[in-house]
Amino acid sequence: MQYNAGVALITALDDYQIKSAADGIPTGSIVKPNSEALSLKYGGIFDIGKNYSNPHCQHRSGLDIDIGMANFQASSYHTQLVANLEDKLLAAGYTFPEGSESPYATPTEQSQPGYHWHAHYDGP
Ligand SMILES: [Zn+2]
Repeated sequence: MQYNAGVALITALDDYQIKSAADGIPTGSIVKPNSEALSLKYGGIFDIGKNYSNPHCQHRSGLDIDIGMANFQASSYHTQLVANLEDKLLAAGYTFPEGSESPYATPTEQSQPGYHWHAHYDGP
């Protein structure tokens, strides 16, 4: 992942934690975002298992991350946590170029196995 995109991501995740705690969500209930697909500094995908069935969109420029949503969907604080994560990613310069892999996915899309957000760093 490129330097500025990484710094912005860390900022977004820190701000998400701070906002969620300020909202009164117990520390142990604040879902830690996880990713299984982060683009490498000079592009390409980080595929340890060599088992990606097809190329992930836009994981070539060092500006993209996939964030798994399963742990969020299982949380009783789901609505507030995803709102905070979305707000902080947007504030840090990330966008969601794929509708079906975003906070704006339809309920059907969100119910698919492996539902995740694809966030792309556009800069400040
Ligand atoms: Zn992706």
